[in-house]
Amino acid sequence: MKCNYCEKILSDDADLVLNYFYHIELDHYDSLDNEDKMMHDIRKKMLQSKENYELKKKNVGDSDLIFNTKNSEI
Ligand SMILES: [Zn+2]
Repeated sequence: MKCNYCEKILSDDADLVLNYFYHIELDHYDSLDNEDKMMHDIRKKMLQSKENYELKKKNVGDSDLIFNTKNSEI
């Protein structure tokens, strides 16, 4: 898809939403109107909490592995 604010073409892959988000963040945030800025900020918060969740999930997964390894040694 094409960016709404410039001529940049973003490839339609699984990361499109994320890529477009970061492109807006870097290149167009200042030209968004208030409503779009608000939407962008909400999306940013959602992405950050999702990242935290996946980081947490990964850490829990790792400690599970350590726990299981210790258990099998006993
Ligand atoms: Zn653009």
